[in-house]
Amino acid sequence: MATDRGHDAVEVIGAKRDGQELSDSQIDWVVDAYTHGVVADEQMAALAMAILLNGMSRREIGRWTAAMIASGERMDFSSLSRPTADKHSTGGVGDKITLPLAPVVAACGVAVPQLSGRGLGHTGGTLDKLESIPGWRAALSNDELVAQLESVGAVVCAAGDGLAPADKKLYALRDVTGTVPAIPLIASSIMSKKIAEGTGALVLDVKVGTGAFMRTVDEARELATTMVALGQDAGVHTVALLTDMSTPLGLTAGNALEVQESLDVLAGGGPADVVELTLALAREMLTGAGRDDVDPADKLADGSAMDVWRAMISAQGGDPSAALPTARESHVVTAPASGTLTRLDAMAVGLAAWRLGAGRARKEDAVQAGAGVVWHVRPGEAVTEGRPLFTLHTDDAERIPRAMEPLEGGYEIGDAAAYTAEPLVIERVS
Ligand code: URA
Repeated sequence: MATDRGHDAVEVIGAKRDGQELSDSQIDWVVDAYTHGVVADEQMAALAMAILLNGMSRREIGRWTAAMIASGERMDFSSLSRPTADKHSTGGVGDKITLPLAPVVAACGVAVPQLSGRGLGHTGGTLDKLESIPGWRAALSNDELVAQLESVGAVVCAAGDGLAPADKKLYALRDVTGTVPAIPLIASSIMSKKIAEGTGALVLDVKVGTGAFMRTVDEARELATTMVALGQDAGVHTVALLTDMSTPLGLTAGNALEVQESLDVLAGGGPADVVELTLALAREMLTGAGRDDVDPADKLADGSAMDVWRAMISAQGGDPSAALPTARESHVVTAPASGTLTRLDAMAVGLAAWRLGAGRARKEDAVQAGAGVVWHVRPGEAVTEGRPLFTLHTDDAERIPRAMEPLEGGYEIGDAAAYTAEPLVIERVS
């Protein structure tokens, strides 16, 4: 049995199993011992389940977050000539917002260090999307990251192994032990990485709805409030927006498809909801960084956000002028009736895109750059019988029937009167 400083794993698990608060010293010990392999996976899995079932106090969550930050390095952007701001989304379907957001905020004079991840399950990963651009590479050294932040103003890259290694190990364990949806563990996981990353301001996009981790506004508010408090306690100017994820964002889900839609936004067009959320998050980032004198909408209109995008892609080896990959096969699903699209379910679209090859089931899997779903109509818009409703894209035609299954129950066509538009930004937590 592992013992140190008077603790052992069974004692810590037992305390949380019995509904007790863990002491600072128990938390410091167990996170450190797990990172160094002294506490075994099965012991940490039991503790994670006890945390999921019995929760944690604010003090415990803060200490747990600090212990995960202390497991690795902290980045330092104090040498930069401009302030920094970052955004984190809890993950949704068609959520390509980072792609237009990072360049638009950089075009306003605030540096954006976006350390991102790859997608797992039905939500896409920002790195997977950018990797559909020929030549683009996700891995940067810390020196390259800081140099690009100074020269271009925006970086989207893979988080290095040195950042919160305790979280890397714990998140992989939670993924296979049914312990992902514990608010203390989600909040500490996200915030340990963002605080260690060293951003000055942070905006959290906490998704609510069928396509999100948080299905209700109450749960999302609890997660947002917990994360905002963790950020502020660590000296990071942090706010959260609760945003709708019952319907997917924009008109596309899939890697290259979402890059193309982001380019439309950067060119001054694109779907209204993607533009609205990009600007709402950009304004929060600019306010947090002390630059609310600049209007990000001007940077989309005058092409300067697109200039930053091109520089950001080129700096990481990508060719911003290259044609994006397309899938070998496509299949059009037509509308079975005329009327108004009254519902389009985010989870149904996410699952379809995933089954077409846009996402992965295991971390080792490759994704298809061109795979995904395009929906031709958004909720509230008119549908005509026989006209295209969805186009499915994949390199393997045999994936199409399985991808169509969730879509079949994933939308409704009805009377215009049966449709009420819900706000995209539901609430602000600060
Ligand atoms: N994203 C993270 O980084 N961690 C979680 O626990 C959940 C989502």
